[in-house]
Parts: sequence; C-alpha cells; structure tokens
Amino acid sequence: MGDRCDQCRNRLRGQGQQTATRTLCDACYREFSGLVAGYVTGGTVENAISLAGWAKRLGRKKD
Ligand SMILES: [Zn+2]
Repeated sequence: MGDRCDQCRNRLRGQGQQTATRTLCDACYREFSGLVAGYVTGGTVENAISLAGWAKRLGRKKD
C-alpha cells in the first residue's frame, strides 16, 4: 500500500507524486497535471469527473 501508482499500478520510484486523492508515478502525474492545466479532452472518465469538480470549484467563488 502506498508504493504503487493509483493510475497505472506500476511500482513507484521513491515517494511518487501526491495529488489531492491519489499517489501517481511521474509519468501519470505529468499526464494528470497536463490534463488539469490544459483542460485537454480525451482523458479517462475519472479524469473528466475530477476536472468537472475542479472547474466547478473555480467557477464558484463563494468561499
Ligand atoms: Zn502511473
């Protein structure tokens, strides 16, 4: 537990990359970061859902 990428299930080298909810290997983290930063289409359903939540948070500035 904690030493595998949550996306591709490969073994991590070192600590891996922490996101809000997951631990990713460098490759998956780069992909994840790119998707979030660039809002690129063609990601997985899971990415789309997290992107939707992220976009919603940005659009809603009540806090
Ligand atoms: Zn990975």
